[in-house]
Amino acid sequence: MSQSVSRWLQQDSELLWHPYSSLTEPSPVRLVRGASGVRLQLDDGAGGVVEAIDAMSSWWCMIHGYRNPVLDAALHSQIDRFSHVMFGGLTHEPAIRLAERLVEITPEPLRHVFFCDSGSVSVEVAIKLALQYQVARGHNGRTRMLTVRGGYHGDTFAPMSVCDPVNGMHSLFTGALKEQVFGPQPPSGFDRPADDPELVVWAAAMASVAARHRDEVAAIIVEPVLQGAGGMYPYSPACLRVLRELADEHGFLLILDEIATGFGRTGTLFGSEHAGIDPDILCVGKALTGGYLSLAAMLCTTDVAHTVSSGPGGALMHGPTFMANPLACAVALASIDLLLSQDWATRVGEISRGLAAGLAPAAELPGVKDVRVLGAVGVVQLAGPVDLPRMTDAVLRRGVWVRPFRDLVYTMPPYVCSDDEVATIGAAITEAIAEGN
Ligand SMILES: *Cc1c(COP(=O)(O)O)cnc(C)c1O
Repeated sequence: MSQSVSRWLQQDSELLWHPYSSLTEPSPVRLVRGASGVRLQLDDGAGGVVEAIDAMSSWWCMIHGYRNPVLDAALHSQIDRFSHVMFGGLTHEPAIRLAERLVEITPEPLRHVFFCDSGSVSVEVAIKLALQYQVARGHNGRTRMLTVRGGYHGDTFAPMSVCDPVNGMHSLFTGALKEQVFGPQPPSGFDRPADDPELVVWAAAMASVAARHRDEVAAIIVEPVLQGAGGMYPYSPACLRVLRELADEHGFLLILDEIATGFGRTGTLFGSEHAGIDPDILCVGKALTGGYLSLAAMLCTTDVAHTVSSGPGGALMHGPTFMANPLACAVALASIDLLLSQDWATRVGEISRGLAAGLAPAAELPGVKDVRVLGAVGVVQLAGPVDLPRMTDAVLRRGVWVRPFRDLVYTMPPYVCSDDEVATIGAAITEAIAEGN
């Protein structure tokens, strides 16, 4: 390893936390020298670089690839105007245009937008809004969220409280976390019809939890059709229709967290479209800016916005410093327009078929429990925990970057991956697993 690289990595390990990491027993990290298109250039430790296809899209975000000329140009042009201004008392074209676009492309009843800086914060704001809504309607006791097991909604406290209570971080923060109401996880599998016996049993269980807690619950919150970081777990759109009906029956709001599923990842622009239902509140983030900058948004219906506005206080009580950052809004608008200018749905379908073909042989391998594909998301679930450093290395030797977690080796490639690159991803994951875990 060249002198300078080992020094950077040494400094990194002493100075920096990485996601979910320990400072005294850090797991290995690799130095990125550059990135363009679908490829990362990683320092090889010997003065050179190795290229790897980013099969993670930098955690669901980088849908159009690195250094995309359209996105780069949008940012340059906004930098030459202004990079940031406060959003209190001031406004700007990038925010207004992006809000217009989001209202246009999301389910019809969603008409109002709150911009913030990360997905977790958008979930915080969605929960606040739901609580304020119930207070405005005179339901002061409705202070809990109803959700299902297996979810993931972010790492700040309110989102953490609706993450899966077993796989999430609940046990570390017992006492500090709001105790929410959990129903069972929906039965697995996207294709389950509404009259599937397991689905009917699940729906009955949800109905009884909802009825039991009807005076305490402000809103239902779930990730539509695919639970992401909670376990890469697809479920039937029919379950969303069940939740919509329960919300209507009991006067709960329905919050859909589309931070991972938004912008085409599951094959429709938003996951809710599979079910043909409309949420009252929607959260988007991750791919919103094409992976360039941190930005998220919470959208809601006019009923919710006006009810909260006419309630005690009137205002929605949130206002981050970097709210509606102009650079982030400008690149988000460019990213959405670039997506919509292409036949993205066909492309996601092709990636889906490519991943299904590439990962299918993995299903036959010893130590593999399940292989599943939904939209441009491919997942191999092992029989036990992944040996993270070994698996990452084995896939990287085949020219592909992945970041497995728990028992899952998975990919959600950038939409700009060619068919060959999708095939390379599938083969790299399958071969690495075949080498043994
Ligand atoms: C990533 C994610 C979040 C959290 O977003 P951050 O930007 O990391 O705060 C929330 N919900 C879902 C479904 C996510 O995938």
